[in-house]
Amino acid sequence: MSPIVMKFGGTSVADLERINHVADLVAAQAKESKGGVAVIVSAMAGETNRLVSLANEAAGSGLVGETFDDEYDVVVASGEQVTSGLLALALRKRGFRARSWLGWQMPMITNDVHGKARIEDIEGNGFSEAIGSGEIAVVAGFQGRSAEGRITTLGRGGSDTSAVAVAAGLNALRCDIYTDVDGVYTTDPRIVSKARRIDRISYEEMLEMASLGAKVLQTRSVELAMNHGVPIRVLSSFAPAGDENNGTLVCDEDEIMEKQVVSGIAYSRDEAKISLLGVVNHPGAAASIFSRLADANVNVDMIVQADARGPDKANMVFTCTQRDSELAVSVLTDAKEEIGFESVVVDRDVSKVSVIGVGMRSHTGVAKTMFDALSDRGINIQVISTSEIKISVLINSSYTELAVRALHTAYGLDAES
Ligand code: ADP
Ligand code: ASP
Ligand code: MG
Repeated sequence: MSPIVMKFGGTSVADLERINHVADLVAAQAKESKGGVAVIVSAMAGETNRLVSLANEAAGSGLVGETFDDEYDVVVASGEQVTSGLLALALRKRGFRARSWLGWQMPMITNDVHGKARIEDIEGNGFSEAIGSGEIAVVAGFQGRSAEGRITTLGRGGSDTSAVAVAAGLNALRCDIYTDVDGVYTTDPRIVSKARRIDRISYEEMLEMASLGAKVLQTRSVELAMNHGVPIRVLSSFAPAGDENNGTLVCDEDEIMEKQVVSGIAYSRDEAKISLLGVVNHPGAAASIFSRLADANVNVDMIVQADARGPDKANMVFTCTQRDSELAVSVLTDAKEEIGFESVVVDRDVSKVSVIGVGMRSHTGVAKTMFDALSDRGINIQVISTSEIKISVLINSSYTELAVRALHTAYGLDAES
């Protein structure tokens, strides 16, 4: 019999009262589930931010280096240890056998890229046997252990990935991600009040939504769920028990009857646009630029090349995260002579807005609707990129919310009021 995996985010375990409520939800599930229950917890809301600031402050005072290192992870992983212990205690108080499991105890084996480690394996150190025996496992999310035996963390929002990895490892029936919204919405409900909850969304669409900015699920968690066929349900821990309007199922596309042309709209403000002007245009010019960026671990997203003042010069425009943009500029400036360009310009006042939907594969005119809606609002498009199921545009960041709302209306996604 397969177990159920439940994950609770920061706001769901924000204080002792919330943790007690979570214990009630877990207790109800444990009584029902014949295959046992594993629970994954995040740190209390705001706690990881506090720990990150503390570590950065230490870096600023010269105590640690600027890059993430192993001790940075020891600091920021500590929030989850607290909530796993508190929830295990609350479950014991209710008469259940329960214990906490830290990343190194399971162990959740990851690579050694501190600050954004990837899970490689969950070794069976009595973990699944404990669940099989009826004990509730309360797992500290976000953290793992490298092959060298050091504590690692999985990147911000990483408890989602811990949960899906545990669900995949246990062959769980489902992975329930409890958060502060009652499902995945057509766009971030915090900025569009007319956003609608989606009943079912495909892994592919959810993967695009997450990687294009919808932080309701960490991108890696969706990728892992898709690869292992783990159904994810996103639901609110604040909803009354038995609420039928609570939750979104993330599942295979063929399990969804009613397919939308556009399912959702995502945005990301963490963007920078870098323009290399007057690049000497010859075979190998792009390779010379982007291989240097790759060697520096700069993650490049959109790329546009256009002729500039005649065919022997080009302008090369690309985007990356704001954090990477300084490094990108310094790497390129250092190699100005070898690459051969006139100047480099950075614009950090940009946002990326994307429309996503599997229906784009079979419908035409989706891009036209997007461009019309933006031009009607006087929003200038700076860069465009497309894939089979998404169109992204880069715009001035002051228009982000206006653009998201306009597109939400243009694709008929607004909830009826
Ligand atoms: P948790 O702490 O539970 O992991 P997060 O803050 O990481 O919660 O994710 C939930 C938040 O994601 C919501 O409060 C919401 O503002 C945001 N969000 C962004 N895009 C969406 C979307 N399309 N659907 C639902 N929530 C979204
Ligand atoms: N506590 C971690 C964070 O805030 C992990 C998580 O909540 O998923 O990023
Ligand atoms: Mg989260």
